[in-house]
This record gives sequence, C-alpha cells and structure tokens, in this order.
Amino acid sequence: MPATHHTKMLILGSGPAGLSAAIYAARAGMRPIVVQGIQPGGQLTITTDVENYPGFAEVIQGPWLMEQMTAQATHVGTAMIWDTIVDVDLSQRPFRITGDGGDVYVAETLVIATGAQAKWLGVPGEQELGGKGVSACATCDGFFYRGKKVVVIGGGNTAVEEALYLTNHSDDVTLIHRRDSLRSEKILQDRLFANPKIRTLWNKKVERFVAGDGVSGLVGVDLVDTVTGEPSFEPTDGGFVAIGHSPSTELFKGKLPLDADGYLQVTPGTSLTSIPGVFAAGDVTDKIYRQAVTAAGMGCMAALDAERFLAEAEYHAMVDA
Ligand code: NDP
Repeated sequence: MPATHHTKMLILGSGPAGLSAAIYAARAGMRPIVVQGIQPGGQLTITTDVENYPGFAEVIQGPWLMEQMTAQATHVGTAMIWDTIVDVDLSQRPFRITGDGGDVYVAETLVIATGAQAKWLGVPGEQELGGKGVSACATCDGFFYRGKKVVVIGGGNTAVEEALYLTNHSDDVTLIHRRDSLRSEKILQDRLFANPKIRTLWNKKVERFVAGDGVSGLVGVDLVDTVTGEPSFEPTDGGFVAIGHSPSTELFKGKLPLDADGYLQVTPGTSLTSIPGVFAAGDVTDKIYRQAVTAAGMGCMAALDAERFLAEAEYHAMVDA
C-alpha cells in the first residue's frame, strides 16, 4: 500500500553529497529521509581503490566508504528509503515528490543530490576491463599508472584536463580524438600542445579495448581512422574515457533552471536553486570538480542552507501569526 512520508528534509540521492547532507541534517534534528536511487551509494560504488578521500591513510574501497557513510547517516537518525522518484511537484511548499510505487513524500525542504554518470563509448572490452585498465576518472585512478603508458579519449575540457593531470604520473600520455580539432578552451589546448609528455592522435575512433593473452588487464586499443577508415593498434596500460558526463536531472527539466549541459544551476558559492527551499549538491550541479570530497562538502552546505532556510521560514510564520 502506498504510504505518505512527511519530512523536514527530503534528500534525493545517496552518494557522498546526499549522505553528508543527511548526516548534518539528522544531527540538527531534522529527521531527514534519503531516497536511494537505482545506484545506492552513487558512483563510488562502482570504483575500487580510493586513495584521495581524506582521513584514510591506507587505500580504502569505494563501496566500503559508501557503506560507512550510509551507516553513519542512519546512526544519527536518517531514514533510508529505496525508491525511484517519478515526479516532483515544486510549485508550492511543502513539496510533493512521488515514487514509482505511489509513495508520496511531503517535504518542507528538498536537497537534490542525484549525481551524474560518466558517459562511456559502449565498445567491446570497455565494461569487462573497467577497473582493470579502463577508467573514466584520471584524478581517481591516474596514480595507479605511475610510469606507465596511458591514453585519454575525448576532445573537450575534461579530456584535456585529464591528459594534463596524467602527466603527473606518466611521461607517455596520448590523447585520442575523433576529429582534427578540440572543443576544449584555448588556454587548455595551449597547455596540452606545449606539454612534451603528451601527443595527440587525430581522427581516430576507439573500436575496442583489448585485453592481453594470459595477462589480466588492458594492453591496448583498436582504432580506426575516421577519415581514411584505416585500422591501427595503440598499445597502452590505461585507457581513460573522457567524453562527458550526464547529470541526473531529467526529473527537473522545466521545473528548475539547468545549464546547457543539463546541470542544475545554483547561486554560486551556495546550494540554493531558484526555488526557495530546494537545494542542490554534488555532481548534479558540479561539472568541474566532481570529487567525492567536494560532493560531500556541498552536501554539508545544502544541509546548512536548508536548516537556515527553515529557521527563517519558521520565524516569519511566528511573527506573521
Ligand atoms: P564535452 O561534451 O565538452 O566534450 C566531450 C568530448 O568527447 C568531445 O570532444 C566529443 O567529441 C567527445 N565525444 C563524445 N562522444 C564521443 C564518442 N562516442 N566517441 C568519441 N568521442 C566522443 O564534455 P566535457 O566533459 O569535456 O565537458 C562538459 C562540460 O563541462 C563543458 O561545458 C566543459 O566546458 C565543462 N568543463 C569545465 C571544466 C573547467 O572549467 N575546468 C572542466 C571539465 C569540464 P566532439 O568534439 O567530436 O563532439
């Protein structure tokens, strides 16, 4: 039977942003509800080693980190509910959010932390070699390719930044792009072309990530020239796919302002969206940093912004009464 849940704060998303918002809100007595989406724990649950989340001297596992955050949020008083949201009505407060089983969430404030997903090429070998040579995050995994040969696929800001970042670890970085010009900002292109550790392969499409015979892991990529159709093979230890991300904002189209890439827009330096009482945190609003630690920080900001918003709303209600 569908239920109605009333809460001071509904949090959509259970990655580092959503769970950090929950920890802060629960400790402020707001009894938040976190709706876990189809990937509880978010993107970190599909990574393995995490070395850059502060507070852990030894390597930790992404899924373990998310289990800990979930347990922490629950211990301080968060209700976790597994549901898929199909509709949000933000036209008046309290907001009404509906799950696919008919449950309705009546929320005084809403924190959107639905995250983003890396786009993948969808070619053979990509999925099978994920975590064994194929990655979508140089900041997360670049360290594991110290002194090795790596390729980056893409031609936007992300690809160029990832290629530049990887030169901290590797002297042999190849950027593979399907056209003969990049779409990234000129300043980044200047840095890329000036870097002796990076070469660029133009007009090349990745057809396949290749695993070695008897070797566990990536050994290279099969390429095809997009102009001549000529096939080639590029040996590599690591393949970084950097062809963009898709923020999970489908539910908010036409309801909240999104930028040209579909990210939720917030007042810079805050978590405030254009609707009072609706806040956004993490990768759903951040296409630049996209780190677990930055998402967690934004989740904290959203909880504090929501708390302040409610305190002001309650004060005005009292004064006006
Ligand atoms: P973009 O959409 O800008 O670029 C994606 C790149 O991947 C393009 O070069 C595109 O090729 C290529 N590509 C897409 N699909 C495929 C495919 N199937 N096969 C091969 N190549 C493919 O994504 P980004 O993640 O780079 O950037 C997204 C947004 O975030 C942009 O607005 C960017 O400016 C911003 N950003 C800003 C940063 C900053 O300010 N520091 C850092 C990172 C991102 P083609 O060019 O042929 O279309």
